[in-house]
Amino acid sequence: MTSEQIAEALDLTAKLMELHGENPFKVKALSSAAYRIDKSGIELDGKTREELEKIEGIGKGIAAKIEELNITGTTQELAALLEKTPSGVIEMLGIKGIGPKKVAQLWKELEVETPGELLYACKENRLVELKGFGAKTQAAIVKSIEFSMANKGKFHYATVEPYAIALVEFVKKQIGSDLVSLTGEIRRKGIIIDEIELLVGAESISMDGFDNPLNIPVAVTVCSPEEYYGALFSSTATPAHLKQLEHLNLVIPTNAKSEEDIYASVKLPYIQPELREGRGEILLAQHNTLPELIDVSDLKGILHCHSTWSDGFHSLEVMATTCKEMGYQYFGICDHSKSAFYAEGLKEDRVMQQHAEIDTLNTKLGSFKILKGIESDILYDGSLDYEEDVLKSFDFIVASVHSVLKMDKEKATQRLITAIENPFTTILGHPTGRLLLSREGYPIDYKKVIDACSANGVAIELNAHPYRLDIDWTWIPYCMEKNVMISINPDSHEKDSMTDVKWGTIAARKGMLTKEFCLNAFSLQEFTSWLQRKKR
Ligand SMILES: [Zn+2]
Ligand SMILES: [Zn+2]
Repeated sequence: MTSEQIAEALDLTAKLMELHGENPFKVKALSSAAYRIDKSGIELDGKTREELEKIEGIGKGIAAKIEELNITGTTQELAALLEKTPSGVIEMLGIKGIGPKKVAQLWKELEVETPGELLYACKENRLVELKGFGAKTQAAIVKSIEFSMANKGKFHYATVEPYAIALVEFVKKQIGSDLVSLTGEIRRKGIIIDEIELLVGAESISMDGFDNPLNIPVAVTVCSPEEYYGALFSSTATPAHLKQLEHLNLVIPTNAKSEEDIYASVKLPYIQPELREGRGEILLAQHNTLPELIDVSDLKGILHCHSTWSDGFHSLEVMATTCKEMGYQYFGICDHSKSAFYAEGLKEDRVMQQHAEIDTLNTKLGSFKILKGIESDILYDGSLDYEEDVLKSFDFIVASVHSVLKMDKEKATQRLITAIENPFTTILGHPTGRLLLSREGYPIDYKKVIDACSANGVAIELNAHPYRLDIDWTWIPYCMEKNVMISINPDSHEKDSMTDVKWGTIAARKGMLTKEFCLNAFSLQEFTSWLQRKKR
């Protein structure tokens, strides 16, 4: 092994020992030996144990480990440590600004097992109150993880969009023409993006001077102005969409004047870029039944937000007044329920106190209304988190899974269905618990879950946090077919992220959601009468 590899192996051993709370003196000896070897660059391969022991800073124990590394490529000790540590936790050891002790604390106290889960925990402010952490550390961790995620080559749509829009403007200015557009996946508003695809109707462009701090790959295609719309058309759609058009004998003209013209040439209405996936949109277009897609301006209320009553950053009053100032008619607070101890979930007496505060605030807010909600944990057996008399006191209940995420499909599905069948459940929250680019979510039988919602009049959340977007948009058509309402909820833990409903709406449009099927596109009156009907 090279000295660098040996240093790395010793350093990892030290970190894992510290993570598992082993003897601090051993840890110290190992990590300083690793540091010395790395810095000195001294050749260790082929040296006998006696020779190794004579090197300064390497004692008997470490010499034996180096010998073992040289012979087997690892040590039994390291292998055993790796064995008992989840791979995501090992990845977390690489995050700048937190040592093994803090990683252990996050792992044990917050049950965070991957950098992605940690990032999400930061976004939920869960590190601020954690002993030895705080707002500054939390911010540093976010920066570090986002950076390494960015370097892994995949990005959340919300991360890329601002740069993509800026890039279009940058190029438009440069060439003095409007023949510049995003294209491909990002124009179709896919929820995960690996590059910004740009089409330009000009001879050439230069990217010099464009600020791309996240180093998002940019793929530029240039074409002549005459070819622009044809190229835009064929580079936007998925192969499936194009193939289906071929069956209609579409020939893309080289000098089309617009995309509308191209669709019109096979007697189709214009199809929105985000729908060009080849998932049934062409058939709808043929029958002239393409739905009118929901717009973020259709939303009339905000549901599922947190406040300082549980793990939110802003008070209930600040959250509600911000929501009102944004022009909404109602705000449904959903702090965590009592089992979410890590998030200071509300015990019964706190629920009553919060309701009293809501009543007081509502007298001051005019026609705007705060609705009494809760994000009730779905317990292991599918039951909700309070007794009936407490459940009864809420206007609505979002039921979500937050613990015991490792379940097989059958168990997870049954757990959700039990919760859906509970007469107090109004909305099923983030149905799979996925975190895009970092946690897959537990497997569920979507059809069974949606069918159960349909049978019980329960709405399904499209969690609008750009790392969740859960329920996946591909299931929205089935929800609508089954008359299941979708609620686009920001799950905000602070006032400024209520605007996340934008990301939820973008995903919902891909799923062809119309405002009629969106629960929080209801006016306050429509929503309250929907709740009353549901209660009956
Ligand atoms: Zn939740
Ligand atoms: Zn929540």
